[in-house]
Amino acid sequence: MPIRSTIPLGRVAGIRLGAHWSAVVTVGLFTWVLAAYLRGTASTGIIWAAAVLGALALIACLLAHELAHSIVATRHGIRVERIVLWLLGGASELADEPRDARTDLRVALAGPATSLLLGAVAFSAAAVSAVFSPGGPVTATLIWLATVNVVLAVFNMLPGAPLDGGRVVRALLWRRSGDRLRAEATAARVGQFVGMTLTALGFAEILASHNFGGLWLMLLGWFLYTAANSELMLAGLRHRLGDTTIGEIMTSDPIAVAAGWTVEQFLGSNLVYTHHRVFPVVDADGRPCAVLAWADLLRPRTRVHPGLRVSELARPLRPAAIAGIDAPLGDAIARTVLRPSLDIIAVVHPNGRLAGVVTATDLALACDRSALGLPAHPTSAPAPPATLPGPQL
Ligand SMILES: [Zn+2]
Repeated sequence: MPIRSTIPLGRVAGIRLGAHWSAVVTVGLFTWVLAAYLRGTASTGIIWAAAVLGALALIACLLAHELAHSIVATRHGIRVERIVLWLLGGASELADEPRDARTDLRVALAGPATSLLLGAVAFSAAAVSAVFSPGGPVTATLIWLATVNVVLAVFNMLPGAPLDGGRVVRALLWRRSGDRLRAEATAARVGQFVGMTLTALGFAEILASHNFGGLWLMLLGWFLYTAANSELMLAGLRHRLGDTTIGEIMTSDPIAVAAGWTVEQFLGSNLVYTHHRVFPVVDADGRPCAVLAWADLLRPRTRVHPGLRVSELARPLRPAAIAGIDAPLGDAIARTVLRPSLDIIAVVHPNGRLAGVVTATDLALACDRSALGLPAHPTSAPAPPATLPGPQL
């Protein structure tokens, strides 16, 4: 599920963090649940203060879980786009796919292992705190934090994609068979089953308890089911595209804008006479660094004048919008499905210089053609027969 408008929260270990507005609901829910759990341990004011702090500590634990995935990924050469906090917790957005089963397994296990470790730390702290104040709110908050972290680790290890346990299943099957796509499809099918089961359990809980406590489980199950469906769809697409690379469908040697240009230079160049809507922006070494669309020159809050540098108007390229020329096309499409805001992918040579561009339309065309059993790009198809059937007059 793509999460768009987010509030930036800075960087940790070089990884961008952001929060979607729905994360506020999560903090509120955690506070409310914890305050109910702490009832009777202290005065109302102290309970609410402990509940807010406990909820924020839990959010920090969720972030630590995601950071663990992202840091292990970065160590194995996988670029990390960002970490987002939202209604159902956190999500690490990776810009590359793991290249081997062992990396896949390590990235997947890092999160639940961190949650377990945090659970153990919170339990130990609770044990120390219990010596001084056995029934106090601090001890109770620490026990709650420890329990939730352990539950999180166990829940995330349920064996279906897109949960961490699903990634573990994929990695293990991939390692055994050597066939990543089949492993991915199996993990997604198990994910569909897990999602449906959780939705059904949530529904049963509503029926049995006559309250809406099961609604959250239903929502979670439904989200997992939908996410597993799109994973299965993507696995099918990757299978059809086989080892077609992004370089095969790109537009080579595209017209690029130099980052140092002024608006006047841009408008005076021959770029104005092309039919393109978006242009890649390259630095002095020819490396793509940003994209410029006509709409960027019309931004209402920026005073666009002829001497303004193009680099001040262009939008920086996200890691997911840069792909090596030999990168599998299926991976690039998977990323754009997950991030519909990507309007151009800059394809680069191994030395980092711009080799070509691929637009969202090019990707959609490749998807449609592959679904019909045609080669992803028209020029890689065999020559048409000498005589084509013409209209019958
Ligand atoms: Zn995880």
